[in-house]
Amino acid sequence: MAFLLGSNLLPPPPIPPRYGEGMTERSGPEPEVAPSELRRTADGSRLVARWPGGGETSVSATALRRACRCAECTARRARGEPAAGPAEVAITDIAAIGGYAVNIAFSDGHRRGIFPWAFLRTLAAPPAGN
Ligand SMILES: [Zn+2]
Repeated sequence: MAFLLGSNLLPPPPIPPRYGEGMTERSGPEPEVAPSELRRTADGSRLVARWPGGGETSVSATALRRACRCAECTARRARGEPAAGPAEVAITDIAAIGGYAVNIAFSDGHRRGIFPWAFLRTLAAPPAGN
C-alpha cells in the first residue's frame, strides 16, 4: 500500500511576527524625552528639570523619595508600609543612566531609585504661577 509520506501532516503553524518588527517603541502616552538640563537645588531639596521645547519642572526630594520604584520600596508599599523613612530628605547625588533615566541618591542613604524621564515628568509639576 503506497501513500504519500507526510500527506496527513498538519499544515505548518503560521509564522509568528517577529517581536518588535514594525512596532514603534512606546512606553506611555508621552514619548521619553530627555531633559535638556537636570540639576538639584543647592540645598538638595528639589530636582529641577528643563525640557526641550521649553518648560521647567521642579519636584521635591521628599516626593521623589516617596515615589521611588526600586524593588525595596515597591515591596514596602505592597506591604502597606511607607516607602520613605525620614519625613524630609535631600538629594545628595544625581546621575543619568543610559540616556533614559536618572539615578537619584538621597540623604537617608537610599540610592537605588531610578526615575525614567516620563515618570519624572508625571511627578514634576510646573512651577506655580505664571
Ligand atoms: Zn527605593
